Amino acid sequence: RAKADPGRHPCFYEPSMDEKVRTRRKLSADLRQAVKAGQLTICYQVQRVIATGEIRGYEALVRWQHPTRGTIMPDDFIPLAEESDLILQIGEWVLRSVCAEAVRWHQPYTVAVNLSGMQFVHSNIARIVANVLEETGLPPQRLELELTESTIIADQARALQVLHQIKDMGVSLALDDFGTGYSSLDTLRRFPFDRIKIDRSFFGAAQTSDHTQAVVRAVLALGKAFDIPVMAEGIETSDQLSMLNAAGCDEAQGFLLGRPAALADIVKNGQITMNHAL
Ligand code: C2E
Ligand code: MG
Ligand code: MG
Ligand code: MG
Repeated sequence: RAKADPGRHPCFYEPSMDEKVRTRRKLSADLRQAVKAGQLTICYQVQRVIATGEIRGYEALVRWQHPTRGTIMPDDFIPLAEESDLILQIGEWVLRSVCAEAVRWHQPYTVAVNLSGMQFVHSNIARIVANVLEETGLPPQRLELELTESTIIADQARALQVLHQIKDMGVSLALDDFGTGYSSLDTLRRFPFDRIKIDRSFFGAAQTSDHTQAVVRAVLALGKAFDIPVMAEGIETSDQLSMLNAAGCDEAQGFLLGRPAALADIVKNGQITMNHAL
């Protein structure tokens, strides 16, 4: 790794840069411990059918309860984990934990788990999914895997084969963060996705409602063309929800419908009851 020469490139390497590199290394070392030390936790965010408001499922979102820094969000450590094989450990831990928890829910909601591209390239993800389903006893129909296009872009032929193996088990596949990255029609045509999730950035404050509406209509048309439902992510206002409803969008997820929460809190709210006789 090239070492900075502050004398030669004063504008590129400020002291804060070194600081950042150090912090990153420390965090990376901490993360290796975190998995063993049981510092990773899972939050669940509700996904609802727009027309009826009924719960369709929950997306599992990992958190890192760092002993001194408090809760660290996935965007701040998943990319770090993806630099090494740590992501494989974390990914498998999340999948196993989520399936083991969800099988005990009295309500048979779907659970969606995010997959990293590394899990496709560097592990036998179809085998892992099959093993986890068998070990935990979760019916495959209750599991959905969320992938982005960048996840499958590296080795499309292999991804296609693996995704078909997973689908053959009865597990469903969601195309996450749609509209960012590649967003090619070819992905939808070639890969067996069961739903499209419109990226939350389209519902951010910087978007005009005209623009958001145009994007929503375009993705809904795609959903129709491929005969799969469309879910909108990052829904924060009732105006957004009414617009989606009027446009005929199927499902939504966002702070308005429910924030990511610990399972214990969801149980306290009565949305989920646990089966203890297992
Ligand atoms: P994602 O899969 O697109 O997950 C949705 C993200 O949007 C979550 O962020 C969620 O908290 C956030 N969100 C939900 N509703 C709203 C809203 O109304 N407004 C706003 N502004 N945000 C909302 P989170 O939990 O920070 O996760 C970020 C990303 O980290 C996820 O994006 C996913 O790509 C990744 N991630 C999370 N858990 C895992 C995991 O177990 N494995 C892998 N590989 N990636 C994960
Ligand atoms: Mg997701
Ligand atoms: Mg997303
Ligand atoms: Mg994402």
